[in-house]
Order: sequence, then C-alpha cells, then structure tokens
Amino acid sequence: MSAVWHPFTQHATEPVPPRIARSEGAYLFTDRGQPLLDGISSWWVVTHGHRQPEIVEAIQSTASRLDQVIFAGLSHEPGEQLAEALIKMAPAGLTKVFYSDSGSTAVEVALKMALGYWRHEGDGRHRIAVFEGSYHGDTIGTMSVGERGVFNAAYDPLMFAVDKLPFPSADGQDTLTAFEALARTGQMAAIIVEPLVLGAGGMQMYSPEVLAGLRKICDRHDVLLIADEVMTGWGRTGRLWACDHAAISPDILCTSKGLTGGVIPLAATLASERVFQAHYSTDRRRTFYHSSSYTANPIACAAALAQVRLWQQRPMGDILGNLGAMQAERLAALGQDGRFENARQCGTIAALDLKVTDGGYLAETGPRMRAHFLEQGVLLRPLGNTVYVLPPYCVTADDLDLAWGAIASFEG
Ligand SMILES: *Cc1c(COP(=O)(O)O)cnc(C)c1O
Repeated sequence: MSAVWHPFTQHATEPVPPRIARSEGAYLFTDRGQPLLDGISSWWVVTHGHRQPEIVEAIQSTASRLDQVIFAGLSHEPGEQLAEALIKMAPAGLTKVFYSDSGSTAVEVALKMALGYWRHEGDGRHRIAVFEGSYHGDTIGTMSVGERGVFNAAYDPLMFAVDKLPFPSADGQDTLTAFEALARTGQMAAIIVEPLVLGAGGMQMYSPEVLAGLRKICDRHDVLLIADEVMTGWGRTGRLWACDHAAISPDILCTSKGLTGGVIPLAATLASERVFQAHYSTDRRRTFYHSSSYTANPIACAAALAQVRLWQQRPMGDILGNLGAMQAERLAALGQDGRFENARQCGTIAALDLKVTDGGYLAETGPRMRAHFLEQGVLLRPLGNTVYVLPPYCVTADDLDLAWGAIASFEG
C-alpha cells in the first residue's frame, strides 16, 4: 500500500490509480507506456499543453541562477516584470499584483483585501455575497464562500456566514433582484463570483449580461466585486478573462491554475488602486499583513512570464476559436443522444448532463464512468452526473473524437 493519501479519493473503494511517468502536449503516459488523453487539462490547469517548451525552458534557465527569495523587504525581476505584464493584460483599473501560491490562497487574499478595505475606510461592512453552487477552494475561508454540502459538512462549525444568491436563470433577473436588495442594506463588503462558469459546481453557465448587471449594482451601492478567474482565466472561456466577455472590471481579480500554463504553482490577486490606497498609510496598522512562504517564487514567476509571452506571440483568438468550434460540433452531435440533457458550452469548455432517475444510481455512476473513460485511454472526471471536456488548447480533432467517443460509448 502506498503512503500517499490522494486528494478527493476514497481509498476504501477506488482502484489503485495508474502511475504517470511522462507528460507531453495533450497526453499523459503511464509507467507502462499507455497514453491517456488529458480531457480535463489535469484539473483545469494546463493551457497550451503539458510541458510547453517555452515554459519549461524559462523554468530551467531561471533555476540556474535564482531560487526562492523572500519577497518582503526584497524584490526580484521576474516578480516585478510579471506584475507589470499582468496589469497590462488585466481588465482596466487593476493596478497592483499580490502573489501567493494557489487558487485558494488567491481567494483568501481577495477576501482579506475586501474586509481590510472597508475597515480602513472606517465602514463596518463585512458581509460577503456568493452564488449558490459556487466553488472557491478548500481552505476554511474559501469553503465558507462556496457551496455547503457533503464535501465540507464536517467543517461547518468553523465557517463564517455569507449571503447566498440564486444561480441566475436565463435572464438572471432573480439573481440581480436578490443582489440589489442585499446591496441596499449597506452591509455588503463584497460579492465574489466565478465569472460566466461555475466550475466545480457542475460547469453551470450564465450570461455576460448578468455579470455586467452585477457590476452595475456594485457601482450603485458601493460593493466590491471579486472575480475568481482561477478556472476561467487564460482563455478557458474563449477570451483571456471571462470578465472580458462582459467588458467589465472587477475591483479584485484572482488568477492561478493557467497562470504558469499549468506547469508549476503560482497565484496572483490583482487589486484596484482604490483597494490598495485604503492600505497605503503611515499608520502601520493598515499594512496588508499577509504572506505565503513561497510568495512570488522567481521560478514560477518566470514560467508565468513565458505564458504571457506565448499569449502575445501566438494567435490565441484563432486557437481558442477553432477549439471552441470543434467542441461545439461534437457537443451538438451528442446533445441529440436521448441519454443526455442540458448540453452547454462556454468557449473551450463543453458540458452535458447524463440523465439520471435516482441519486443512488448517480452515486454509482461517477466511478463507473471514470473507469470506462480510462479503458478508452481518456482522462475525464464527471462532476456528479455532469460530463465535461475541458482540454488543453493543443488538442487535435482526432483527440477530441477520442474523448467524445468515450462519452458516447458509455453504457449507463
Ligand atoms: C480550483 C479553483 C480554486 C482553488 O484553486 P486551488 O489552486 O485548488 O487552491 C478557486 N476558485 C476556483 C474558481 C477554482 O476553480
């Protein structure tokens, strides 16, 4: 038996996982040499492909001269250059970059910035509005702003209270009305959203108009908008940021996963000048007292800079557009299959739901689907009865046929 305790894994019931010895492009290779198409970008982190050469090269060359350097009281070029580059690429109005090392820490930082902002403004606002079904990470704070359920019931006594908004219906009016009522109370510090796509909540999608509507309400009632772009960022929705579809700027933006192309951990929380200025003072109590040991790791920053350069040099609009079109074709074909419903797509992400009659059946289906996909040489991980394909951008039409063929051939 291995000494490893795997994440999100019930060791009592799940098979011993295949061991991956090599990765390249859209594929993983087991230690027996079996290729596995990575249909979920290794949990939504890989963008162009595994071991993208420019990113690997940046890591190697940086590691030959620099490793972790404390980022309080000292600085370094990769950290400064990356911050400049991110501000240029981010929605307008974001002016400062705070580094951490995962999506969860990026969100924790965002929440602390928002609460700090209102405290330093001398306003007692501290409530946070969230979407039903949202996911922002697995730390106590990020679980608090995420959906409560079987995944986190044991930790409920430690979580703080938030204000829940219904997931938007087609026109989103229900959500907007509920949010406006909350915002009017003058107690809302911030709203945190996954823009356009709720990832772990089952690839649920809503329109850019709803996102723009939330921004307007935030403006009217002075509520900070936190965009958690940890999953949606770096092209997943067809544009660099999901916020770009709605032409809005959040007050705080979280990015991680695709930031280094999915090669090495790094996260950044981008803040508006207004949020930064509330912490800028000769009064030391206003300091943003937060850090991770590996803040702004230079090797990770260099990997992210290589990602930035790829974004500037490659025709990303065309690449993402082509992938979206290839996904749409296959989704439409399977959407005709009576076993599935709710076919939906946002950019490169395509999802549909397997029709299920009862929950007991549902509980069984996930592991059986996963096993079937592995047999077909495809890595897919349904969320409940939601099957989705979220591939690296280098996938070919043949690769996608393999993934969608594996879904079509699942025998219930
Ligand atoms: C994955 C994810 C997180 C958490 O990121 P980690 O790196 O796993 O901590 C936060 N928010 C969203 C929207 C995510 O998809």
